[in-house]
Amino acid sequence: MLRNNLDKIISRIEKARISYSRHQIIKLIAVSKYSEISDIQAMYGCGQRAFGENKIQDLKTKSDALIDLPIQWHMIGTLQENKINALLVLKPSLLHSLDSIKLAKAIQKRCEKIQTSIKALLQVNSSYEETKSGVLPQEAREIYLEILQTCPNIKLEGIMSIGANSKELQKIESSFKITKDIFDSLQSEGAKTLSMGMSGDFEIAIGYGANMLRIGSLLFEK
Ligand SMILES: *Cc1c(COP(=O)(O)O)cnc(C)c1O
Repeated sequence: MLRNNLDKIISRIEKARISYSRHQIIKLIAVSKYSEISDIQAMYGCGQRAFGENKIQDLKTKSDALIDLPIQWHMIGTLQENKINALLVLKPSLLHSLDSIKLAKAIQKRCEKIQTSIKALLQVNSSYEETKSGVLPQEAREIYLEILQTCPNIKLEGIMSIGANSKELQKIESSFKITKDIFDSLQSEGAKTLSMGMSGDFEIAIGYGANMLRIGSLLFEK
């Protein structure tokens, strides 16, 4: 069942990827936030290696339980400042949800104190939805550069965004286009990862240059 889901999604990704560009290589993060440990194990057995969680406690519980599997863990959900330490000790592969300069400064401080570093993406609220975290598109570039300059222990690798929560294709496309333009303008500053696209909109996201997808429900559905 899970293997079938994964196969189907990979062929859909492949189709969208080739129509965008054969030079584009796309990484799939399996979002396991609604999934049991046994399902993550099964998905690992199908060849999937990168998994994403949106809560520190779940990230800890699941990565502890699966410590014997060489899985790459991604933190994709909003991070509270009082959870920074807990995140750093888990040593995730990538924090997708760095969503303010204030959070960046707090992470930098903790990193200095315990002499560590963390890879991260700046989350941009490209759909201008109040319920979503992220910096506003018009300030994204400036904040990105400020983090690069003032937070040496944060290895900024690109941009993350959640597509507009809408049934209108044009609204979704517009939010992805805004994100892509910001990403493109930051490639000269070393931005290489564009994390966008979920179960409902990943093919559209690929059309706007996404090279990292975060897919949960479609992948784990039974
Ligand atoms: C849950 C979640 C996803 C995956 O969503 P699906 O629609 O289940 O694919 C992606 N990104 C973030 C930030 C999430 O919280």
